[in-house]
Amino acid sequence: MSSRFNHFALLAFARLCVAASLCLTVSSAEAVESHAPQPAVAVSFPVASDVRVAGDDKQTRFILDLDQKIDARAFVLGDPYRVVVDIPQVTFKLPSDAGSAGRGLIRAFRYGLVMPGGSRLVFDLTGPAKIEKSYVMDAANGQPARLVVELVAVERAAFKSTQPVEEKPTLRPGIVMEASAAPAENTGTANSAKSADPRPVIVIDPGHGGLDNGTQAPSGESEKTIVLDFAKALRDRIEKGGKFRVVMTRDDDTFIPLGDRVKIARANTAALFVSIHADALPKREGDAQGATIYTLSDKASDAEAEKLAEAENKADAIAGINLTEEPADVADILIDLTQRETRTFSSRFAHILANEMKTVARMHKRPLKSAGFRVLKAHDVPSVLVELGYVSNKADLQHLVSESWRSRTVGSVAQAVDAFLGKRVVSAGPSR
Ligand SMILES: [Zn+2]
Repeated sequence: MSSRFNHFALLAFARLCVAASLCLTVSSAEAVESHAPQPAVAVSFPVASDVRVAGDDKQTRFILDLDQKIDARAFVLGDPYRVVVDIPQVTFKLPSDAGSAGRGLIRAFRYGLVMPGGSRLVFDLTGPAKIEKSYVMDAANGQPARLVVELVAVERAAFKSTQPVEEKPTLRPGIVMEASAAPAENTGTANSAKSADPRPVIVIDPGHGGLDNGTQAPSGESEKTIVLDFAKALRDRIEKGGKFRVVMTRDDDTFIPLGDRVKIARANTAALFVSIHADALPKREGDAQGATIYTLSDKASDAEAEKLAEAENKADAIAGINLTEEPADVADILIDLTQRETRTFSSRFAHILANEMKTVARMHKRPLKSAGFRVLKAHDVPSVLVELGYVSNKADLQHLVSESWRSRTVGSVAQAVDAFLGKRVVSAGPSR
């Protein structure tokens, strides 16, 4: 697993170098945005202005209108059947409902940022298909530049995943490298940045991001934005306390694979991992409200928790990651022992958190649950996943977007972190 991982990091690094000029453009754009009101050099990304899907369930054509020619790389994935198109960072100015309903072989599609400098389109297919052609046309005869992907249906037996083995798409190269550079199973030899700051590390993980919106309120607010706002406020609150160092898995609208979120917790030898989400219940299933705190377990505490874990675990598929390449769980007695201890710590923190949160926020009628969330699987980092409330519930949504609710609730989470880690100073903690 670790050699595969190094290989991955090398690839990431190679691609990073290749993309250096692109990255330079991106970072100067960010610098311009955050520091200088009068940009010396205006940096703009290509703009996608419209999209069309034509054809039937034998042949389907996808067309994206652009204001300039770009590079594109398309491949198909199975289980579930998807087409992924990797392109440089693009500003999407598409109709808000674009992608929610497709046509022919494309059931639906998504688009968004997957790493600094890189955007991605993901089509959900109705069945097995191959890419007949994919190309980008120059603007001509009054038509804008266009990205075209032509799909043809194939038999199930003839289906082949076309993701190039030697050139895997690398999401967030910086983070993958940082995570893999840290000693995976080591104890004291943390790198200098870590040993320079002896404070315990809290990893805050805002769910979803980029082309994965998470759940969506009927009025349009998306989970990825609600939880990012919450996570940033929580970071600020904890940092203000001065006792802990905070690492965010993302602090912008970028997609991070579930496995990388876990790696970030492990690479930073985190004392605690808190994943932030907001749930939704489909109308036909009635109404639910309040916050719920989840811990990891092989057996879900109830059917509802199991369904939620399944939905949250789909994030990687949504962003077009080939799930068959995920490393299998390692069977190791030491890992097993550590994991048991870690689960005890996780559930202790969950209880403390529920008690703190209920003083300021409305809780679900059963606020403590467990299920097989992939993002909670660091075997040596106590981890919880907080569903702040239901965006499908009117009163919950009002809270979720309210500044004062956020401030109160963030305060209660920070309080719980304090109580949990304060008590743990003397305890052995999970061995590493
Ligand atoms: Zn979520």
